[in-house]
Amino acid sequence: MINKKIMVIAAHPDDEILGCGGTIKKFILKGYKVRTLIMTRGISSRYLKSTKTTSKLQSKLNTMSILANKAIGVKDVKYFDLPDNQFDKNSLLSLVKIIEKEINLFKPKKIFTHFYNDLNIDHQYTSKAVLTAARPQGQDSVDEVLFFEINSSTDYQINSDGLQFKPNFFVDISKTIKFKKKALDFYKSEMRKYPHSRSIKAILNRNISLGNSMGLESCEAFQIARIIDK
Ligand SMILES: [Zn+2]
Repeated sequence: MINKKIMVIAAHPDDEILGCGGTIKKFILKGYKVRTLIMTRGISSRYLKSTKTTSKLQSKLNTMSILANKAIGVKDVKYFDLPDNQFDKNSLLSLVKIIEKEINLFKPKKIFTHFYNDLNIDHQYTSKAVLTAARPQGQDSVDEVLFFEINSSTDYQINSDGLQFKPNFFVDISKTIKFKKKALDFYKSEMRKYPHSRSIKAILNRNISLGNSMGLESCEAFQIARIIDK
């Protein structure tokens, strides 16, 4: 039987849509089953001053996150309560253990996650933890690990040591970019004003520009970490 299961592993609510929203919708239309893990609730570090405001904003973000995922056809989303922008304060091993457990439970064929050299520390830790948790261990292990890019984090990293994001896998999202836009609209509170890199227009412009490079209307781009054909 062909394994048609995909796991998306994102650090913050909205990363899953920015990174691979159009691609995930496309795979869902092809009959894939998708489970998304979001490692933080995503709001704490920005609003530490008032706990009352924080919890109100938090519950709004949770609702919006569920709606955003529904907009691309994903109902299976699991949230973890790791503190935002502080992954470096936990041991990498504790993050590996959480992700490893989830991989063993769901048994995905493909994993989409962060690029290991993003500017954001949570993205870096998530990526490294996924690589360890999804290490190749024979017949049952994950066949494909793909890194996605996040506007205002992957593109903000300095271009040094050859460690910048180099996409080498492109997914045509011309037919599903409208669902990605709808999902991003739900995450409006996390978006910035154009021409900020994290504005809805800039995100979609990036997809259009990547698509045009491939002779297509729009694409999402990934860097292959590993693909094993069994
Ligand atoms: Zn993020």
